[in-house]
Amino acid sequence: MKILVTGGAGYIGSHVVLELLDQGYEVVVLDDLSMGAKENVDDRAAFILGSILSRADNEIALKGVDAVIHMAAFKAAGESVENPEKYTRNNVDGTLTLLNTMVDLGIHKFVFSSSAAVYGEPQYLPIDEKHPVNPINPYGETKLKIEYQLEKEFISKGICFATLRYFNAAGYDINGRVRIPENEPNNLLPVVMEAANGSRNMIEIFGDDYETRDGTGVRDYIHVTDLAKAHILAVHYLRSHPSFTVNLGSDVGYSVTEILDTARKITEKPIPANISARRAGDPPKLVASSEKAKSLLGWKAEHSDLETLISTMWDIYRPAEALV
Ligand code: UDP
Repeated sequence: MKILVTGGAGYIGSHVVLELLDQGYEVVVLDDLSMGAKENVDDRAAFILGSILSRADNEIALKGVDAVIHMAAFKAAGESVENPEKYTRNNVDGTLTLLNTMVDLGIHKFVFSSSAAVYGEPQYLPIDEKHPVNPINPYGETKLKIEYQLEKEFISKGICFATLRYFNAAGYDINGRVRIPENEPNNLLPVVMEAANGSRNMIEIFGDDYETRDGTGVRDYIHVTDLAKAHILAVHYLRSHPSFTVNLGSDVGYSVTEILDTARKITEKPIPANISARRAGDPPKLVASSEKAKSLLGWKAEHSDLETLISTMWDIYRPAEALV
């Protein structure tokens, strides 16, 4: 089977590409390198420099493809509040261009990177797929918009989709094969790593007055290799089953303070932190129930304990002097 991975040079995408190749799939990557790094794309995959916003680029990338894993998107919830147009253009317009090209070419299997951001403020925890959707930032809105379009428009056009609602992706390939860290990251874990290796002075803790156990935001961190494995299971499942939506999380929540404490232990660095105001668009606590993914796909998180998450990241971020 030949799979197109859009955004395959990105943080999650490059891990999905590795997992596909390891399991014997033929892989083509379409990426505009606005966020990703070509060096992170394994040599066994074909690489096309291009954009999902371009019909012509999509047509080239889709040649001979059996299924698409669509990961090309902007993902910084905070930035999306400041610049919503950027998110609508890439995450919505780009995805619709890709989907329409797929329909025209008769390619019907589609795995969509969605997000826990579609849920917004949790009404109960853990969050299962029946939880009402009500995003509180434009990033989450773009993901929900595509979920709706898949249901309302593209099922009737023959698209068979897997919507994967990621909680917080973290960690790096446990064999160290993805080497280039993200450029100007916004997510907590890479920011903590940069503060540990000295490439930034400190981390800002966005609020310590949430109704959580220590006042800082709680998230469900899931190892990127666990996420990647779910994509392959989803592709496989779609070969003989109808469309579906599942959460992907570890079902465990950690606060910003807990992450920092563990990171200080593992890196043996002080990691200076400063309490600042809450970031717009941040819910206090998000923790998944991934029971559906477990029962439907036979998936489970295997690398998502905090030590593995942080130590596989530190392998990538640690400064060169720490290696000798
Ligand atoms: N966070 C923080 N400082 C940062 C980045 C994130 O305190 O520099 C907090 C953020 O408020 C949230 C948690 O860490 O409670 C996870 O944020 P991230 O941006 O990684 O993911 P998301 O907001 O998408 O859940």
